[in-house]
Amino acid sequence: MLKLLRNLPAIHELQQEKQFHEILQIQDFSKERLTEWVQAEVSKLRSDIIEGTFKDHTNFNQLIFERIDKRIKQLNKPTLQRVINATGTVLHTNLGRAALSKEAISRVAEVASHYSNLEYNLSEQKRGSRHDIIESLVKETTGAEAAMVVNNNAAAVFLVLKALASDKEVIVSRGELVEIGGSFRISSIMAESGASLVEVGTTNKTHFYDYEEAITEETMMIMKVHTSNFKTIGFTSEVASKELVSLANQRNLIIYEDLGSGDLFQFRNYGIGDEPTVKESLAYGLDLVTFSGDKLLGGPQAGIIAGKKKWIDRLKKHQLARVLRVDKMTLAALEATLIHYVKGSPEKNIPTIKSICLNADEIRAKAEAFRTMLPDNWRAELSKDVSMVGGGTMPAVELPTWLLLLSKEGAKTQSLYHALHKGSPAIVTRIKDEQLALDFRTIEEEDYGDILNRIWELE
Ligand SMILES: *Cc1c(COP(=O)(O)O)cnc(C)c1O
Repeated sequence: MLKLLRNLPAIHELQQEKQFHEILQIQDFSKERLTEWVQAEVSKLRSDIIEGTFKDHTNFNQLIFERIDKRIKQLNKPTLQRVINATGTVLHTNLGRAALSKEAISRVAEVASHYSNLEYNLSEQKRGSRHDIIESLVKETTGAEAAMVVNNNAAAVFLVLKALASDKEVIVSRGELVEIGGSFRISSIMAESGASLVEVGTTNKTHFYDYEEAITEETMMIMKVHTSNFKTIGFTSEVASKELVSLANQRNLIIYEDLGSGDLFQFRNYGIGDEPTVKESLAYGLDLVTFSGDKLLGGPQAGIIAGKKKWIDRLKKHQLARVLRVDKMTLAALEATLIHYVKGSPEKNIPTIKSICLNADEIRAKAEAFRTMLPDNWRAELSKDVSMVGGGTMPAVELPTWLLLLSKEGAKTQSLYHALHKGSPAIVTRIKDEQLALDFRTIEEEDYGDILNRIWELE
């Protein structure tokens, strides 16, 4: 033991090593910090030797720098990392929902790396408002009189209820008291806002007279909630927003709908779902709507509030608007995303829209091209299936797709599945018929090389 302790290198000796200087230069460490790390490794070795858990006669210097290298590798590997989504679920809630368009990303990079006119009106040389940045684009794409943006749609719902209906009654159908992933419940958010929830109708049926009879002196608002993540079928009825608009107008109430996804694109024209667009919903005469930026819109996480100027002005002035405000990076990404809609080409440029609109033949062609690049000892078979939109949107819609079912001689599917989740980039696949299933709806051509590298790693 004494011999081992005596062999432990001195710190100044380690500071002379080639590796020490390499780390300083390549990894951009300060000399002080690297010296602390070296000291910590030496101390650890010393106590391990004294405790008798370290008995080897190795080259200490090499061992110390190996351990430091390992720590640096860990440090350099981001916790939040890129993942290849091979599940086919386009708005995968656990995988970050919408991927941004190339234009949106370059706008974010530009705005984030320089000063910007975030709150400065360049033409009048005076203080400006960050709300102005996207308001005209939202107006143009939705037909709304006014609009604003907050952190996410949950925040948008909260702001609307808190600012406009606190201490008042809000009528909601029992069939629309939804829970969204991440424990967002209409009833809880309402309680937090200070508004009182007045439930009407039943789980499966709510009638016009239910709303009519629930209106009191204290009623401020009728709220509709888009039941985005489930479908009720069978003996059901709900009252359309269109019909509630006239009731609300007659009784001087605010009529507001939480649209959830809020699409700006006519998916119906592609035979996908039957959701009304935000523009169509607003055209019924709703006072306010709220929707997410990173669901069907295909932009950054954000909550968009659109509707009558009178109410939007009130919301903009509320203290909470400051609490819930978005960053310049969000505004840059959202602006670029909305411009794709204004130009009429979202299906060519916004990854979410593009993936949802891919047809089965296009996906099959991608899978076939990829198959030809696989190593010889992998088996790959095409299989017809469906992919989901995800993100709690269009739950009943099944998008026809083709899967590539992969298997490898002598390898268990479960272990391949787990192995692909680890390593970099991680690949999240499905399993079908006890084989790895890659859905090419959400795999980009630029991902092929990375997937093949990961597959070769499993050899
Ligand atoms: C998704 C959703 C929300 C929450 O939106 P986030 O942008 O995730 O905060 C709220 N209401 C409905 C109906 C939704 O579908």
